[in-house]
Amino acid sequence: MSVRVIRTKDELRAALRPRRAAGETIGLVPTMGYLHNGHLALIRAARERCDVVVMSLFVNPTQFREGEDLESYPRDEARDVELAEGAGADFVYAPSVEEVYPEGFATWVEVGGGLTDVLCGDPGRRGPEHFRGVTTVVAKLFNTVDPDVSFFGQKDAQQAIVIQRMARDLDFRTEIVTVPTVREPDGLAMSSRNTYLSPADRERAPALYRALSAAREAVEGGAGLDAALADARRVLAEAGIEPEYLEARYADDLTPAAAFDGGRPVLVAVAARVGAARLIDNVVLGPPPGAGTPAE
Ligand code: AMP
Repeated sequence: MSVRVIRTKDELRAALRPRRAAGETIGLVPTMGYLHNGHLALIRAARERCDVVVMSLFVNPTQFREGEDLESYPRDEARDVELAEGAGADFVYAPSVEEVYPEGFATWVEVGGGLTDVLCGDPGRRGPEHFRGVTTVVAKLFNTVDPDVSFFGQKDAQQAIVIQRMARDLDFRTEIVTVPTVREPDGLAMSSRNTYLSPADRERAPALYRALSAAREAVEGGAGLDAALADARRVLAEAGIEPEYLEARYADDLTPAAAFDGGRPVLVAVAARVGAARLIDNVVLGPPPGAGTPAE
């Protein structure tokens, strides 16, 4: 069956209604398009889990700050539709901005709890308004599609955590699945924004993952988080990269992590400008071997 491109929520609801009525499960993969293998991994995961796969394609203006790359964000719908079909999507929902944000739009979904004003949500960076834009558009997609399962990438770890919290707090019935980060052979996390990298910057960019890997190795070797972050910082400096942030936070609530407290997984996240691109990446670390809860 070939993929069907849909432009309006009414048309999408009408297309999904008989499928749901027939007992089929629906998977949703939200994207901003310019698909790469990371997106395709999400579509394939949805294809495996669900009877019907909907990929949304929408460059969401409300998650961009003034001066960010909304206008220059790469777009190629024809190519995206072809790739989405190849990976197993049944529907590509590609609405206009007016369809998503009609005249007079005035309602927002905001997640608090300290999840959206740290890391990328720090007011000096993309700000909490970035996540407000993300959660608002994703809530609207959840309402339109009413998915059984929704798929997000670990590449945007903070976004996945924020959406999990929103879905729980607002009683969305969808299950949320986080798919591991897909990387280039040299470790660079795939991103539509990698197209902004000049050849020289493309050479430097894998230092982000090398830095995160150095932190992982340090922890695995028994080092504390501070020492592990110092190792990571050194790798970045060697590549001439000054991170916007490089932080260790507990992966469940994004509070700062100084140690492997009670075996809680720790998110080590980095953001850095490399030439024209702002890149993010992360790894989740468990406690070092043998560092379990001390015996009573
Ligand atoms: P985007 O189009 O960049 O908004 O991404 C759409 C979805 O794909 C989000 O859930 C991202 O986390 C996910 N994604 C983007 N890049 C990757 C990657 N390299 N590996 C896995 N998932 C990714």
